[in-house]
Amino acid sequence: MGRRYLKQSVAQPTSSAQSTANVSEIVKGVIEDVRRNGDAAVRTYSARFDKWERASFKLSQAEIDAAIAACPAQTVEDIKQVQANVRRFAEAQKDSLKDFELETQPGVFLGQKNVPVSCVGAYIPGGRYPLLASAHMTILTAKVAGVGHVIGCTPPTAGKIPNATVAAMHLAGADEIFILGGIQAIAAMALGTETMRKVDFLAGPGNAFVAEAKRQLFGSVGIDLFAGPTEILIVTDETANPFTVATDILSQAEHGIDSPAVIITTSTSVGEDSMRIIDDLLTELPTADIAGRAWKGLGEVVVVDTLDEAWVLADEYASEHVQIFTQRPREALEKMRAYGALFLGEKTCVSYGDKVIGTNHVLPTRKAARYTGGLWVGKYLRTVTYQEVRSEKASGELGRLCGRAARAENFEAHARSGDLRAQQYLGDECRW
Ligand code: NAD
Repeated sequence: MGRRYLKQSVAQPTSSAQSTANVSEIVKGVIEDVRRNGDAAVRTYSARFDKWERASFKLSQAEIDAAIAACPAQTVEDIKQVQANVRRFAEAQKDSLKDFELETQPGVFLGQKNVPVSCVGAYIPGGRYPLLASAHMTILTAKVAGVGHVIGCTPPTAGKIPNATVAAMHLAGADEIFILGGIQAIAAMALGTETMRKVDFLAGPGNAFVAEAKRQLFGSVGIDLFAGPTEILIVTDETANPFTVATDILSQAEHGIDSPAVIITTSTSVGEDSMRIIDDLLTELPTADIAGRAWKGLGEVVVVDTLDEAWVLADEYASEHVQIFTQRPREALEKMRAYGALFLGEKTCVSYGDKVIGTNHVLPTRKAARYTGGLWVGKYLRTVTYQEVRSEKASGELGRLCGRAARAENFEAHARSGDLRAQQYLGDECRW
């Protein structure tokens, strides 16, 4: 088994050249301040990190209407078309989750229901780019799940209300929209302030500060998953088009300098050609400053002998997005296990998933794909159970079993709950 690196990463995937420990310290400080001082602290950090100060961070209906009116008509139409795609897939996901009730023995009924979370805080990133597609993914999916109240937070873009993002949040069904970003938004939603209702569950992607804030607040609230700086991995054989490989690598590298981009190939020439084309394309890409630094620091190209080795190595990366450019791309469905989303063949790409096609783009990063999939309707649902015993005989028999099982654990009061019913329905002795 051979792995030959044509290019290896040279930097750690951290944000804004800050160390992970540093990010964690900053996040901890902001959360504690928001916990103690509520809106006053939120105001301080919004001014400090985003140079954004307003009497209220919440948009009025008039401001929402004005933001939508300021969008080109085509933008609003496109948002509606994409949201129809996202809704269609999310509704199919919801249909796949059936409540059920089972009679496990005569008179004993066990059931399961999927109950939506009551109040969700959705974070729509916007520091570098107005990521309006995240509104479809978080808010719309929550609404399809049946969440009653959804609060959307997004940062200002260059000191202004991001009109298209607000349009997407509103059309997705947000009940309240706040122009508020970063740690202060996440902390406000998780802890509640004088003007922000405390949510039960936080969803949405973000930079390293946002992801770390969600991680630290988990427990006070539920979170969807660890969806930090985006990642791409492309598996190719000799049939792949290096120009397409290079283009798609850059499509994710431009997210941020902390975005890893990896090519695993069985073909040295595809690997070398892709690298050369990436360098060429970077000379004219308007976002080359970010994409180039991401590729230089976190880009990797690995040549392996066989596709079976490629699947194993790709699973080790457990990347957020995995594109498959091989002769038989569906082979990856059978062979691969750890990824956020698979993109099969050269006719699709991560950009489709990010922006238009309808699957959810909030996906696990930093190897979280080993234990979770991405955001979906099910994340907003609590799977709860219930039970009912309708038969006296069944209750009495369960009571006898419960008495013995509980005493094996020295739980005498538990045992007597069983004894009581065995006495009531079967005439047994009860020690009360
Ligand atoms: P963002 O909205 O996540 O973060 C911007 C906020 O970060 C600002 O509002 C500011 O308050 C805060 N911030 C910036 N620098 C700070 C500092 N030094 N100290 C404290 N706070 C600071 O927007 P972004 O920065 O553009 O990042 C978006 C991220 O979302 C990218 O990394 C992208 O890859 C990621 N993303 C991930 C997924 C996924 O599913 N994993 C999907 C889409 C986007």
